[in-house]
Amino acid sequence: MALKIYNSFTKTKQEFKPLIPGLVRMYVCGPTVYGPPHLGHARSYTDFDVVYRYFQYLGYKVKYVQNITDVGHLVGDGDDGEDKILRQAQKEQVDPYEIAYKYETIYFDAMQKLNILKPSISARATGFIPEMIDMIEKLIAKGYAYVTKNGNVYYRVHKFGSYGQLSNRKLENSLSGERIDVASDKENPEDFALWKTAEGGHIMKWKSPWGEGYPGWHIECSTLSKKFLGETFDIHGGGIDNIFPHHECECAQSEIANGKRFVNFFMHNNLVTINGTKMGKSLGNALTLEQLFNEFDPMYIRYYIIQFHYRSPMGISEDAIAKAGEQFEKIRETYNQIKELAGGKTAQIKSGEILEIFNNFIAAMDEDFNTPLAISELLKFTKFASQVVQNKDAKVASELLEAFGKISFILGLDFEDKKQKTNDNGNEEKLLAIIADVRNKLRAEKNYAASDYIRDQLATAGIVVNDKKV
Ligand SMILES: [Zn+2]
Repeated sequence: MALKIYNSFTKTKQEFKPLIPGLVRMYVCGPTVYGPPHLGHARSYTDFDVVYRYFQYLGYKVKYVQNITDVGHLVGDGDDGEDKILRQAQKEQVDPYEIAYKYETIYFDAMQKLNILKPSISARATGFIPEMIDMIEKLIAKGYAYVTKNGNVYYRVHKFGSYGQLSNRKLENSLSGERIDVASDKENPEDFALWKTAEGGHIMKWKSPWGEGYPGWHIECSTLSKKFLGETFDIHGGGIDNIFPHHECECAQSEIANGKRFVNFFMHNNLVTINGTKMGKSLGNALTLEQLFNEFDPMYIRYYIIQFHYRSPMGISEDAIAKAGEQFEKIRETYNQIKELAGGKTAQIKSGEILEIFNNFIAAMDEDFNTPLAISELLKFTKFASQVVQNKDAKVASELLEAFGKISFILGLDFEDKKQKTNDNGNEEKLLAIIADVRNKLRAEKNYAASDYIRDQLATAGIVVNDKKV
């Protein structure tokens, strides 16, 4: 069996072959770091994490690049308006770079909890402004971009004959429903910004041949993918909401600047929906991962996500996650029983039943990463494993442990017993409760010097005590 991937370019499933044998070059649009990550991020990066993991399982070397958008992404994804990061910086009254760094850190922490592997390269857009300027200059030289008297640079969309190839939009129709800014200095309303002049008060700005300004959102992905993966690479991923205009614009920029085909496969994951409508931060209905992690083991959320094929919309409810969690706990319990029975030793899979289920699992993954089908095989596997536990067959348990290990790697599901891992946290909580109790006693005796000393010592350790007024 060969791996087949649905290519959003050709709208068909195609057999995957890398351009360079043995190496997969993959780019996925990273987050705009202006707010806490939400379930939409969890879905997108879990889906592509499974892709990343499966290529590794198949023996490929994978170069996986993600960008961090820390400048140039404007509210509403358009060319006019506020920069999302600057707006948040004003709200929190801090430097915009602090906003970007803060939310980047929170993003990676959340991804780690979901057992999402870090990409090979995570590149901040602000680190590659000279490369972006270089690409914009190429587009101007080729007549595909123009500088306006205001110092803005726009891409001349009508000149790029293939515009709309990915989203199946025709330029004549693309205006319907789009907001047209009459005050714009564009030749045509569809043209998109490559470089914007920094107007008064814009803190994030760089010198350029066109004056001080900042790059448009789309140019960063064209620049960073070229920088790290070359002019043509294997896979470009993102959410379906990125197809238009973001990926369409990336194609227009890269294909003209490089004079080559941009990517072989475009992969797009579907959205998270709440009551049938899209979930997103800008729509104000996003469930943050912090909220979800307070309630659920992150592994339940990961398990819930991969129950959906990446191209299907994912509805969400707390009940549904809880139900997925129960199912996951059963798998986890069986895995730990198998591990104990096998004495932690793995053995090559030889038994017919295990081999058959495992091969079906792989066949599901080969069919455009069909994780729901793969999970149905994992459930069969768990059922078989619980019988082996009952029969206390240590030899078969070792083969099962081997298969569980492979499945755990591919799907990124951590089956290890949670209780052992959280022991330390439990002790910490108990200790803090004892300290709080001692302080309350001291305060009741009006020994404020001692109770304040404890409070201050805790504060230097990063633990804040909120005293109720006595
Ligand atoms: Zn992008």
